[in-house]
Amino acid sequence: MSEDDGKKTLGLRGGPRSGNVKQSFSHGRTKNVVVETKRKRVVVPKPGAAKSGGGQPVKGDASKRPAGITDAEMERRRKALMAAKAREAEDAAQREAEEKAREEERQRRREEQEAKEREERELQERAKAKAEEDERRQREAEEAAKRAAAEKAAPKDDAGARGGAAKQPVRNKGREAEQADRDNRGRGRGDDGGRRSGKLTLNQALSGREGGRQLSMAAMKRKQERARQKAMGGSQEREKVIRTVQLPEAIMVSELANRMSERVADVVKALMQNGMMVTQNQTIDADTAELIIEEFGHKVTRVSDSDVEDVIDQVEDSDDDLQSRPPVITVMGHVDHGKTSLLDAIRNAKVVSGEAGGITQHIGAYQVDQNGTKLTFLDTPGHAAFTSMRARGAQVTDIVILVVAADDAVMPQTIEAINHAKAAKVPMIVAINKVDKPGANPDKVRTDLLQHEVIVEKLSGEVQDVEVSAVKGTGLDELLESIALQAEILELKANPERAASGAVIEAQLDVGRGPVATVLVQNGTLRQGDIFVVGEQYGKVRALINDQGDRVEEAGPSVPVEVLGLNGTPEAGDVLNVVDTEGQAREIAEYREKAAKEKRAAAGAATTLEQLMAKAKEDENVTEMPILVKADVQGSAEAIVQAMEKIGNDEVRVRVLHSGVGAITETDIGLAEASGAPVFGFNVRANASARNTANQKGVEIRYYSVIYDLVDDVKAAASGLLSAEIKENFIGYAEIREVFKVSGVGKVAGCLVTEGVARRSAGVRLLRDNVVIHEGTLKTLKRFKDEVAEVQSGQECGMAFENYDDIRPSDVIEIFEREEIERSLD
Ligand code: GDP
Ligand code: MG
Repeated sequence: MSEDDGKKTLGLRGGPRSGNVKQSFSHGRTKNVVVETKRKRVVVPKPGAAKSGGGQPVKGDASKRPAGITDAEMERRRKALMAAKAREAEDAAQREAEEKAREEERQRRREEQEAKEREERELQERAKAKAEEDERRQREAEEAAKRAAAEKAAPKDDAGARGGAAKQPVRNKGREAEQADRDNRGRGRGDDGGRRSGKLTLNQALSGREGGRQLSMAAMKRKQERARQKAMGGSQEREKVIRTVQLPEAIMVSELANRMSERVADVVKALMQNGMMVTQNQTIDADTAELIIEEFGHKVTRVSDSDVEDVIDQVEDSDDDLQSRPPVITVMGHVDHGKTSLLDAIRNAKVVSGEAGGITQHIGAYQVDQNGTKLTFLDTPGHAAFTSMRARGAQVTDIVILVVAADDAVMPQTIEAINHAKAAKVPMIVAINKVDKPGANPDKVRTDLLQHEVIVEKLSGEVQDVEVSAVKGTGLDELLESIALQAEILELKANPERAASGAVIEAQLDVGRGPVATVLVQNGTLRQGDIFVVGEQYGKVRALINDQGDRVEEAGPSVPVEVLGLNGTPEAGDVLNVVDTEGQAREIAEYREKAAKEKRAAAGAATTLEQLMAKAKEDENVTEMPILVKADVQGSAEAIVQAMEKIGNDEVRVRVLHSGVGAITETDIGLAEASGAPVFGFNVRANASARNTANQKGVEIRYYSVIYDLVDDVKAAASGLLSAEIKENFIGYAEIREVFKVSGVGKVAGCLVTEGVARRSAGVRLLRDNVVIHEGTLKTLKRFKDEVAEVQSGQECGMAFENYDDIRPSDVIEIFEREEIERSLD
């Protein structure tokens, strides 16, 4: 067995090397070699002995076949013989080669040795010469001194002249000595020169100080070495292979090295030389990676999207398939100018006119019917969301309604809205709101807008303007007419027959229903049972719920629907695409998740070199304040993150480590602890285990229900001014055990106060799965049949909310009191 192995290995190794060079034989010495074909190849190209040795026995064998030996055996013997011969030839050649190599080595050593000796000798000679010279000079100096001393002793009148005469010779002598010294050295050089020009003995030649001969010998050695390696297919001499490196948007350093076929250490070093201190497991961005790839002399092809995305139907619709679709309208404007009021007014006037007082389920979007034309309204939480959705590639809005209060002026956020609309190239309609107010001055709004290059129709411009009152409900029809008109001009079309694509308007984790996304279908028709991928999530449509809370089978272009059946919560602005199979959907989602993770990692690890430089500069005096943000809906989370990113001065910067939707979990606390970050809950609470962990690890959790408060606190913290005082005290918690319907009162919750105290006057929040779903006041607080002011922990009570009915068993009621804290106004 071992013999076979030996043969095999040998054969394989010997094979490729057998072609040309003697050295290849060195591997053939093994005793058990019988790998005939390869042997033959080794033998045949050899001149002389090998050839004749290999050739003759073959012929001879045929005639000299002993009786009783099979052909096979014969063949084997012949081969063995051949192999033996080959081996002999090899050995001979080998010996020869080795001998030669040894001879060369000996020669080289001799030369080296002689050169060394020679050098030493010269050194010694020079040292000796110098010593002699020194001695002589000293002697001379001493003599001169003696003479001078003698002269001093002589009569004074003589001293001047003789001293001068005496001094002269000394100096002369010194010069002479120098001259002699120079001559000596010159002679030394002359000797060398003589050696070079005259007849040469080997020793002389080899001991030449310049080493010309030696060098050429070394060069020869190197040449031989190179030739040998070339013959052996050695790797050192291989030409550098220029690779085309597939570069995704972010790549791990080790993977980058791998793709370039360079050593990781070299890549890390290159990065370091470029000012990036990274380890092989860190991820860098594509720009940096490209720089490195080019530095290594390779080529780059950027791959943005993986092939897995290709299954998404990208076919352009032909004109025949296109049908007109409703416009999608976003209302924008300065805070308190009446956006929400206007949206509500339109909805109440149009959608629920039949349903007495019923408030439709809020899904962040709704459709109205304007004389047969459907209009879709989006209730996006502000401009930031509008832009961040756009940044994600979701251009969902067709028309922007710019709300400006007639009793106010064009304000910063009005200007922001104008800029957003302009940047998105979306036509605007100006709704001049609050015209019912006594101080209303619509014309001032019109002229104000001129400064921002918005010229309304009343001022002979092209932007439609409508005077409305959201509160009184006036001008709404006119506004809707204007929208319909604008939509007509836009000729909005889509193909309802194709696989659906859409954009996420809002998404959240819902108790009981799981992740829910409000999706605006932009093209095609989304149906129940459709398999889809949306951002980094995927799923199968379990149910579709329209803006009025009704289940529907399908949703066509421009229709907003709530989609159930997701595997996770997507983000606002994520694009939804229907695909054929769940496998495809999962694959795409997973790919995107990975890509996003890598991108985030790359962004976290100080990405571009420029940034790095900047960071390095700043690092000395800039501190980062890491935070975690959890919010009830994606829109809030995004708005907070964007606000956070704006905070910061030259000394402090806020860095959002993570933001997400839903309750604060143990994972969040873990991350916060690791980075020494506080956790900000916006309308969400920490679940029980997270609360415990946070207490143990000393992680700070802060709850907010107003974004401005959160922003203010972070600002204060960033400047080191955050007071430790709590502005809002949680005074108690109660759990809903049962829900009763009481005529005249509405729904009443039968509760158990689990913590603290329930107080009638206090503020209350309704928490469902640690997400704040309502905040308000109590209508009643009852202990048995009596209305009471307070109920203590451990006691049961009945509670009902003012103007709020959606309560369920196991919901939690949080009871809080606000503490007035004086704040400086600067
Ligand atoms: P938003 O911040 O832009 O969403 O503004 P809101 O819709 O919350 O409105 C802010 C305040 O303005 C609320 O108190 C509204 O009642 C009030 N408001 C909105 N529209 C009108 C209007 O047409 N007339 C009057 N008088 N008040 C209005
Ligand atoms: Mg509002």
